[in-house]
Amino acid sequence: MNIILFGPPGAGKGTQAKILEEEYGLKQLSTGDMLRAEISGETDLGLEMKVIMDQGKLVPDEIVIRMIRAYVDSEVCSKGAVFDGFPRTQAQAQALDAMLAECGKKIDKVIELQVDDTALISRIQKRAKEEGRSDDNVEAFKVRLDAYRNYSAEVLPYYKEKGLHTQLDGMQDIESVSEALRAIVSDL
Ligand code: ADP
Repeated sequence: MNIILFGPPGAGKGTQAKILEEEYGLKQLSTGDMLRAEISGETDLGLEMKVIMDQGKLVPDEIVIRMIRAYVDSEVCSKGAVFDGFPRTQAQAQALDAMLAECGKKIDKVIELQVDDTALISRIQKRAKEEGRSDDNVEAFKVRLDAYRNYSAEVLPYYKEKGLHTQLDGMQDIESVSEALRAIVSDL
């Protein structure tokens, strides 16, 4: 089973992806986490991507596609994955379909977490204090939210056409969102 968690920055994708990973044995694949690992490892790629990420902009498709490709191996092909923060462009979505098709797999559901902007801002401010992510500041957040509006308008129709898209109220508490997710996932 392969699921995409879709939603604006601060929607709770990472939190829910971890829960799905624990409960269903799916591999959580977060391009944001992979990029932050490059930054903390001070790799050349990390240092280059940090500049883009701190501005709230998207990093080039080929970089994130290459990162995901490294994981879409026998493990993901046998157990399945929950994609968090990927794909963000139609090129990424098409690349993902092609990678999965190589092992006879596909995306089974794209779940969009809906959270209103005011709630997102307070969640991001809270996370800034707790985790100190350098892109969790007001300016970068505005750009990320704007980027989200653009890329969701690009990516969601791709999956809507395939009948894979569904929405979920992400304003509820963590456990209620998980419960709603379980209901969707158990049906697949
Ligand atoms: P959030 O969902 O809160 O924005 P992420 O950890 O998913 O946080 O992403 C942080 C940053 O990493 C993004 O603003 C972007 O610069 C970069 N990034 C992550 N995933 C992708 C992707 N699939 N395509 C392009 N850029 C990405």
